Amino acid sequence: MTPVTCFSGKTVSVFGLGGSGLVTAEALRAGGARVFAWDDKQAARERAAEAGFAISNPIEEGLRQHDALVLSPGVPLTPPAPHPVVLKAQEAGVEIIGDIELFCRQRVLMAPDAPCVAITGTNGKSTTTALIAHLLQAAGRDVAMGGNIGTAILALPPPESARVHVIECSTFQIDLAPSLRPTIGILTNLTPDHLDRHGTMAHYAAIKQRLVENSDLAVIGVDDAYCMGIADQLEGQDHPLVRLSMQHVLQDGISRDGTRLVFNGQEGAIELADLVGIASLRGVHNAQNAAAAIAAVRALGVDGETIRRGLRSFPGLAHRMQPLGYVDRALIVNDSKATNAEAAEKALASFAGGIHWIIGGVAKEGGIGGLQPFFNRIAHAYLIGKSTPVFAGQLGHQVPFSDCGTLEQAFAQAVARANASQDPEPIVLLSPACASYDQFPNFEVRGARFKDMAEAMMGFRQMEKDA
Ligand code: ADP
Repeated sequence: MTPVTCFSGKTVSVFGLGGSGLVTAEALRAGGARVFAWDDKQAARERAAEAGFAISNPIEEGLRQHDALVLSPGVPLTPPAPHPVVLKAQEAGVEIIGDIELFCRQRVLMAPDAPCVAITGTNGKSTTTALIAHLLQAAGRDVAMGGNIGTAILALPPPESARVHVIECSTFQIDLAPSLRPTIGILTNLTPDHLDRHGTMAHYAAIKQRLVENSDLAVIGVDDAYCMGIADQLEGQDHPLVRLSMQHVLQDGISRDGTRLVFNGQEGAIELADLVGIASLRGVHNAQNAAAAIAAVRALGVDGETIRRGLRSFPGLAHRMQPLGYVDRALIVNDSKATNAEAAEKALASFAGGIHWIIGGVAKEGGIGGLQPFFNRIAHAYLIGKSTPVFAGQLGHQVPFSDCGTLEQAFAQAVARANASQDPEPIVLLSPACASYDQFPNFEVRGARFKDMAEAMMGFRQMEKDA
């Protein structure tokens, strides 16, 4: 844990006790703050009370005696509808911050030279974060990874000169961290997302921009107009910057040439890595994530050979186009995180053909209509869940499909048909393009069930890992 001493002797209200909230309260208490805790959910309040925290609802009790309101990133901060507690704090003139802000202040106090890599973007945050941590570990570094991925930031060991913190940041977390000044700030891409929470695209992009703007070195994927605009602005200010493009050849940046990632600098082109055959980094979207990770770890002094070795041993993240292994000839891929058509598109785009596609659940508006350009890669579709009639209509006569009802049925049929096919390497892909809650508590449980079924199947072979 990182004790937060910067509020020692002060009074802080921690609002929202799920996930990171309780850890934050503990870190503040360990650093000597007087902590009041609140959550709208009774079970969370009870847990905090058991842990010895004073329970107080700042909306009723007020915040005038408080020095800060530490908000969970799930609580709306900005229009269209700020949470009442935000208005209350603003009225009382109390600053509103998040746990990443506490970490940043603590870093300044404890080890201002401690390296810190912060990652944001609409997509690819978790993959890039996990890959950076993996590459640093491969280089023998002391790494602490957390934030919006896995571990709450204050549950990580404290900042030290020889320890690299690798922190995934959501927009909400950046908004609550005004002194976030990472050594390396990464912005993968920007597309409309969560606009219900951030109002306009301009507002959403402006928050994301802060993370790279305040970094010592910015790494920006420039394949969308918003990120391109941000990179141009930073370049205009002479801000140290590495651009990444998977679509164009860049000068002084990282570009993609087939499966190769290349840096074009003053001294010509240097091949940084070849992703061919790395199952956990398939697809152009993962090439972008790999390029961002390589830019970051190169800047931290990791050598080319270690990077290439580390890429090959990256296991991938669970439920994100995760290659699980083979059943006979069929490669089994778990992409349960694909809860909408855009995410499923990334998976379909990553395989040339022979895809046995398990889809369905609770569909988003438009269903899979937008995926038509990829229909010729699908050998057969296996429909599950509530979306079955809609998806059957959208696949029409273009893709052969079966109405399977359940994931179990779909998996058994997909494996059998894939192995009976003529394809040299058929793929059984769970990339449902749907939320899971008609049949599962969440996408993790759906993916875990899929993995269990694969592992229980006769003839299952795990992916071989390169050293
Ligand atoms: P995030 O943490 O930003 O949600 P993840 O790394 O968890 O991103 O990936 C989630 C999904 O987003 C993936 O399954 C894939 O469909 C898509 N994705 C990942 N990386 C990218 C990228 N660089 N560009 C576009 N889409 C991506």
